[in-house]
Amino acid sequence: MDGLMKGKRGLIMGVANDHSIAWGIAKKLSEQGAELAFTYQGEAFGRRVKPLAEKVNSRLLYPCDVEDSASINSVFDGLKEEWGSLDFIVHAIGFSDRNELKGLYANTTRENFVRTMVISCYSFTEVARKAAELMDNGGQMLTLTYAGSTRVMPNYNVMGVAKAGLEASVRYLASDYGPRNIRVNAISAGPVRTLAGAGISDARYMFSYQQRNAPLRRTVVIDEIGGSALYLLSDLSSGVTGEIHYVDSGYNTVSMPTMEELKR
Ligand code: NAD
Repeated sequence: MDGLMKGKRGLIMGVANDHSIAWGIAKKLSEQGAELAFTYQGEAFGRRVKPLAEKVNSRLLYPCDVEDSASINSVFDGLKEEWGSLDFIVHAIGFSDRNELKGLYANTTRENFVRTMVISCYSFTEVARKAAELMDNGGQMLTLTYAGSTRVMPNYNVMGVAKAGLEASVRYLASDYGPRNIRVNAISAGPVRTLAGAGISDARYMFSYQQRNAPLRRTVVIDEIGGSALYLLSDLSSGVTGEIHYVDSGYNTVSMPTMEELKR
């Protein structure tokens, strides 16, 4: 199928480089005709994001640090001026102090707890509210989560708590905006080697454990997450909102290690 996103305009938040999940999503949306704008966090990332945006014919790039409401507001002011309206947003943003993505969750500091929550959870709500102002004809919103929200994953710690809040936010936002035909969903991705992923201590062991134990016996790549995002952001999923959609080679469905693993 071609042109699923033809005539649709959307904002992609969270590209750091060409390994980013947000980039995998942006490529799929662009292939299907979407017109894209991007945000980047600071000038160093901006230098990497600009050539990527050019690859998908995007000229709209905005600096944005989601810890700062004024920074978020100026992105949406810019989009209002350029496009007037918006069809979709992708929020692929997460952060926590890597020193607390190891050891006991119980040792999480108040300061990092709050910062992790603001960046990794609350920012989606704030961005959704601003985006909804530009979605007079309905729209789609998508964020990225991880299964550490519902089950304990080693070292994921406070990020798991933030993702639990993020997933609840998806359901509340879906309820708030459903009457306006704005759909809100999340993809729960399996582990991917990205900058953010590398911040979690011993991530490579989780990666190889999933490769051995997921039903598909592999991890997922960003193009696969992009394909599922395309479904959730296009009319193909017009009846779907408030969902947490797993793209993880089926890992979330298994309850114990494979026999090969048990015999290792
Ligand atoms: P990434 O490092 O490529 O992207 C993370 C992005 O968050 C970066 O672009 C970074 O600039 C942005 N960010 C962090 N703090 C910010 C701030 N204050 N303001 C604005 N932007 C900020 O890594 P990724 O793995 O592609 O992460 C994207 C999303 O996917 C995150 O929410 C992450 O938790 C989620 N996720 C990742 C994995 C994985 O294994 N990599 C699995 C499931 C979910």
